[in-house]
Amino acid sequence: MRIVLFGPPGVGKGSQAQFLAEREGVAHISTGILLRRAIRSGTDLGLKAAEYVEQGRLVPGPVVRSLAQDAIASCNYDRFVLDGYPRTIEQADWLAEFLEEHGSPLGTVLSLVVPNEIIVDRLSKRRVNRVTGENYHLDFKPPPADVDPGVINQRKDDTPEAILHRLDIYQQETHPVQEYYRSLGLLQEIDGTGSFEQVYERILDAIKQSAG
Ligand code: AMP
Repeated sequence: MRIVLFGPPGVGKGSQAQFLAEREGVAHISTGILLRRAIRSGTDLGLKAAEYVEQGRLVPGPVVRSLAQDAIASCNYDRFVLDGYPRTIEQADWLAEFLEEHGSPLGTVLSLVVPNEIIVDRLSKRRVNRVTGENYHLDFKPPPADVDPGVINQRKDDTPEAILHRLDIYQQETHPVQEYYRSLGLLQEIDGTGSFEQVYERILDAIKQSAG
């Protein structure tokens, strides 16, 4: 299983990718999570990335590439779900070349599709457990009472300003990547509305179809 889970911020791809990876026993590679971890740890890479991530701008290619490269290598170029990578045509080109070099081309690219107003709602009501990384939604999945409220944060890039900026960047930089994968016959679009379980079922069906 070598999959890219694709879609605008707030479409639910992170939660779906994590669940899919746990269920299927494959690696969940999220460049957003890796970047936030590097920022928290104060590594050189984290220091370079912090300003971009907080403002919802794309982190320069070589910085993110090194994270993606190490993560893919550490699962032996196979059995992974990529989440949040690639985000530009340049990244998609690099990824194709890198995987080709290791005889592990992508199997499928799943694109989750959700209307913009749902996205803004999901992101502005998202909260994150800063210790476990678990995501919550104030209405649909509020932080449980037994979790210390002190560890529940709103991501700095989930403010209305940063959200609009991220959606803008998605349209300009990342949407073309979807068309790139469509032209290669790798893209499958999936309705990302409805319950988590409904969307997960659609993802599994699409994976089965691509394997069959
Ligand atoms: P995410 O958790 O996927 O929403 O990513 C959060 C932030 O990390 C993005 O808004 C970017 O600032 C940065 N980021 C994550 N993945 C990439 C990528 N592939 N290219 C550039 N920046 C990225």
